[in-house]
Amino acid sequence: MVLLYTSPRFLQHHTGNHPECAERLEHILGHLGADGLTERCTLPQWLPAEDEVLESVHQETMIRSLEQLAKTGGGRADADTVVGPESFDVARLAVGAVCDATTRVLSGEDRRALCLVRPPGHHALRETAMGFCLFNNIALAAQSALNQGIERVLIVDWDVHHGNGTQAIFYDEPRVGFFSVHRWPFYPGTGDSDETGTGAGLGTTRNVPLEFGISQRAYREAVMRELEDFAARMRPQLVLVSAGFDAHRSDPIGSLGLEVEDFAWLTAAAMAIADSYAAGRIVSTLEGGYNPPVLAECVAIHLEGLL
Ligand SMILES: [Zn+2]
Repeated sequence: MVLLYTSPRFLQHHTGNHPECAERLEHILGHLGADGLTERCTLPQWLPAEDEVLESVHQETMIRSLEQLAKTGGGRADADTVVGPESFDVARLAVGAVCDATTRVLSGEDRRALCLVRPPGHHALRETAMGFCLFNNIALAAQSALNQGIERVLIVDWDVHHGNGTQAIFYDEPRVGFFSVHRWPFYPGTGDSDETGTGAGLGTTRNVPLEFGISQRAYREAVMRELEDFAARMRPQLVLVSAGFDAHRSDPIGSLGLEVEDFAWLTAAAMAIADSYAAGRIVSTLEGGYNPPVLAECVAIHLEGLL
């Protein structure tokens, strides 16, 4: 089975006319339901993350300023990042989902989980929201795993954009391996192959920047080679996935030429790493993907792989 985290609350992070919109999740949930995938999963109940959890990664001033922005009717946290009146509470619920999934997977309740949350997280830095992301969901999940005694975590980020927030948060943390494959050069500008970590974390960041126009075959070869090598170095006890689907060829703001079936391949690759090193333990969370019908197909094939 797979633990599947969904909630109608995630539709209430209102962003207006914006690519990161509630329609994305509506399409996903409709598609998973029609395919009979939802009923094959366990649907846990969980609570929003407390301040103490948010503060394990983010600065208190950042948390309070997002709360204040939502309370006063909303606005923008940065040029691209909309905060509505409900967004702070919805973002807390998203963090709660990935942390609950991590706890349950580590306790052995199930080996795999998929968190279909909004807002996404991988651009959020310790000190600021960024790039459609309020809190860094995947970083908070990794931190929660460390707090539960896990010694080595691997984050696999296949969103088409570099996960700059996650990289920055763990750049000097030897217990968290960050692997990112992304379009390059592209937003947000970080993620060159010479960014490999610092201090005790030197060597625990691995970036695979790929140019637009790369063939699917070359994409797969690069990911396979680098991911297997990096996983052998990290020997993770838990695999976390920043699952963005905006590398699909028809994504309106991303695209790295991928097709739906490439996400089945990526899912299998991440699961193989989890099986080899982490007793199959894998927690995946939704990041980008901005063509709602195509996103829904990609998420369905991802979940089918996890099942
Ligand atoms: Zn993205």
